[in-house]
Amino acid sequence: MPEQKRDYYEVLGVSKGASDDEIKRAYRKLAKKYHPDMNPGDKEAEAKFKEVNEAYSILSDSEKRARYDQFGHAGVDPNYGAGGPGGGFGGFDMGDIDLGDIFGSFFGGGFGGFGGSASSRRNGPQKGESLRASLTISFEEAAFGCEKEINLNRTEECEACHGSGAEPGTTAETCPDCRGTGVVRVQQRTGGFAFSSTAPCSRCRGTGKIIHTPCKACGGSGSVKKSKRVTVSIPAGIDDGQAISLRGQGNAGKNGGPAGDLIVAVHVKPHPQFRRDGTTVLYEQPVTFYQAVMGAELEIPTIDGKVKYNLPAGTQTGTTFRLRGKGIPELRGRGRGDQYVTVRVQIPTSLNGEQKEALRAFAEAMGEDVPEESGLKGFFDKHKKRK
Ligand SMILES: [Zn+2]
Ligand SMILES: [Zn+2]
Repeated sequence: MPEQKRDYYEVLGVSKGASDDEIKRAYRKLAKKYHPDMNPGDKEAEAKFKEVNEAYSILSDSEKRARYDQFGHAGVDPNYGAGGPGGGFGGFDMGDIDLGDIFGSFFGGGFGGFGGSASSRRNGPQKGESLRASLTISFEEAAFGCEKEINLNRTEECEACHGSGAEPGTTAETCPDCRGTGVVRVQQRTGGFAFSSTAPCSRCRGTGKIIHTPCKACGGSGSVKKSKRVTVSIPAGIDDGQAISLRGQGNAGKNGGPAGDLIVAVHVKPHPQFRRDGTTVLYEQPVTFYQAVMGAELEIPTIDGKVKYNLPAGTQTGTTFRLRGKGIPELRGRGRGDQYVTVRVQIPTSLNGEQKEALRAFAEAMGEDVPEESGLKGFFDKHKKRK
């Protein structure tokens, strides 16, 4: 058994009410002073360095510090005073100390051998895994929202044992190797002195408990695979490539932790007529040459159905007008975008003799010089050059 441990506050030379900053400052000063690389072969400095690190690992962690304040050393080191496998002089959890920060500047970052360690609360409540799924919906369904069903295979908490893994009527024993923490201390030698870090307990596989009579329904795992049909409510305004997260619809959590989430990626099918840019709907309206010249009352499709629009006489091809509020609703908002309509004048590609005659007469009336033979070709060539 080691001699009585010194008080952690005393080790760092700070008061019990010291702020986190004060503790950090005191630790940096002492860690540098006693660091083995600065004191080669000095056993006393090495011991002090370990002591300082251990004190800091507890006092820098608000949860551990609170336990230490309440219960003393026994509150933060399960081996303390019990002659545990670590020989009593508990190491520290490297995961809690920002060594890169402290030693990076000091030793040029070449301070190898300090891996992070497993969480010291390995057997604590853990959130379940999140699941991923995808849905393909129509343009209109994306605009106005919809409900879809997804078939999922997920793990759920076993109803028979309520997730404990122990057959109903029996209880699980706290693992004696790790005292229920799910982690054990492992000694590591670095640069001639030993650190202890933590590793998952092999006896209970990190669960902290040993089940003597496994639950028959789940085989002791505490969870069962289930096929579930989940209704996904897709909000109006969602866009292609966006995802929605359904809290708690993923796999069951462990040790009483919450279930994971279900993340649904949404694909929106392209629309034959509409394109979308955010909340804006883009649409191209074909009109005839006559309509463009003379004006027309058009019926324009929108996601709400057809709306009337008076096309002014003399509208040029490529002209864009706006239908206010006919776009996509804002995702989780109140507003709606607009629909932009671009007018495309359709140029006839084949005309019969009568039509050609009428067009030539029209061109002549417009003062164009229309050659008798090449006819329409000339008209189109000139038209092209003017563009
Ligand atoms: Zn069970
Ligand atoms: Zn264990």
